[in-house]
Amino acid sequence: MGETHQGEAGVRTLTHFVNGKPLAGTSDRYGDVFNPAFGKVSARVPLASVAEVDAAVAAAQAAFPAWAETAPVKRARILFKFKDLLDQHHDELAGLVTREHGKVFADARGEVMRGIEVVEFACGIPNLLKTDFTDQIGGGIDNWNLRQPLGVVAGITPFNFPMMVPCWMFPIAIACGNTFVLKPSERDPSAALRLAGLLKEAGLPDGVFNVVHGDKVAVDALLAHPDVTALSFVGSTPIAGYIYAEGTKHGKRVQALGGAKNHLVVMPDADLDQAVDALIGAAYGSAGERCMAISVAVAVGHIADELVERLAPRVKALNIGSGMDGASEMGPLVTDAHREKVRGYIEAGVSAGAKLVVDGRGHTVEGHENGFFLGGTLFDDVKTDMTIYREEIFGPVLSVVRVPDFASAVELVNAHEFANGVSCYTSDGGVARTFSRQIKVGMVGINVPIPVPMAWHSFGGWKRSLFGDHHAYGEEGVRFYTRYKSIMQRWPDSIAKGAEFTMPVAK
Ligand code: NAD
Repeated sequence: MGETHQGEAGVRTLTHFVNGKPLAGTSDRYGDVFNPAFGKVSARVPLASVAEVDAAVAAAQAAFPAWAETAPVKRARILFKFKDLLDQHHDELAGLVTREHGKVFADARGEVMRGIEVVEFACGIPNLLKTDFTDQIGGGIDNWNLRQPLGVVAGITPFNFPMMVPCWMFPIAIACGNTFVLKPSERDPSAALRLAGLLKEAGLPDGVFNVVHGDKVAVDALLAHPDVTALSFVGSTPIAGYIYAEGTKHGKRVQALGGAKNHLVVMPDADLDQAVDALIGAAYGSAGERCMAISVAVAVGHIADELVERLAPRVKALNIGSGMDGASEMGPLVTDAHREKVRGYIEAGVSAGAKLVVDGRGHTVEGHENGFFLGGTLFDDVKTDMTIYREEIFGPVLSVVRVPDFASAVELVNAHEFANGVSCYTSDGGVARTFSRQIKVGMVGINVPIPVPMAWHSFGGWKRSLFGDHHAYGEEGVRFYTRYKSIMQRWPDSIAKGAEFTMPVAK
């Protein structure tokens, strides 16, 4: 589904997916999709022109009236079938993710599961769309509210979770009665196409879910299209800011989740074995290419020396290899260009005077000499004015910042422009409570390194990690993808004769 074979042997040419079927790219612009473990091109992805985006929006617009009228319980039944198909194809989807993103297969399976959980949540849509009713607000009048779908909504997603992040959006959007156009990352587009195929197999009517691949041209076409009512974006902060400004300028509802610089505070009373395990997994898992990756360890007081001593050998011992090798703990980076960017940050850290404890540059993997691998890197004595502290690196680089006490740790975290996730390792309940209440970050973990809320809670950061009013998925998702309507009704036998000129009040 959604791919044809042509050109160089083994290199697939992908298609868009519009109105229930593959749509070949009509522009002559294509992007390369790599298998990062080998550094080889595995597919060519069409980069949509405005005409292809228009075709996808037109298909979604045509499908909207009937889909919006479909009873929520019937929409839910299709999602139940979809969920069953996702279970059956769990390994296949994870394989697609690993082969294009590079993350290890077990991690990709976890990503698929976190996507499935949002589908499970969306299966409860009849209950989630239930609203309030007030009998007799006065004079024979009843008042209730509805949550109605918006129309055609679009999702623009990043490379680092090609399965899970689209699933933060479309299951809830379509469960609410909207139709959807997904513009996945052009770096790992195959998972989105497979999702489209499985939705069709589950019985979703044509046009309700569409995929257009592309770059800025496609995104700008979605931003400007008058029939796109709302946009969900997840990606880097500069683009999130742009999407929010442009989308709202065009009168659309927008939620735009951006980048991150997540800190893990290690208090002197923390269980150090647990804190070190947490830092190794959260900083180097998925090669640091997670918006909830920990990239700063905040060592409080006397714990710092021992923390760095314990981290260093663990970083050196990371098992780095192909994501399809069951022994690998960390795979390659997504592209060579991204690896170069991360190397540039390491050089900037060295030039700025940070102490390079473990240097991952120059790491190679036998049998994968052309793969986009980088070793784990550890910096100590990182200062807040350094680029490696201020900016998101999005690679396997952990910076240790030393602070004297708890108050300085809180102040440090709260001063950063990003505020996606944060974690505090401590065995003191009072510290944990104060931290949770005082920290200005959207998602907080206490002895939990990567606090990603479950599907029935909601996901989102604060400050420059999220533009807009709604977090993603959970009840926030239902609110984002529906419009609130309040209805007051009475019948002729309860209407008194005569015009009323005063503000109506309960009688
Ligand atoms: P990105 O911002 O480069 O791309 C995201 C999407 O925007 C892609 O679909 C891409 O095609 C599109 N895009 C890129 N440049 C554009 C432009 N100039 N105009 C319009 N559209 C454009 O992000 P990425 O590199 O794919 O993903 C990594 C980033 O995403 C990191 O910053 C990470 O923190 C962030 N992220 C955030 C969350 C979150 O929930 N806050 C989750 C996952 C990833």
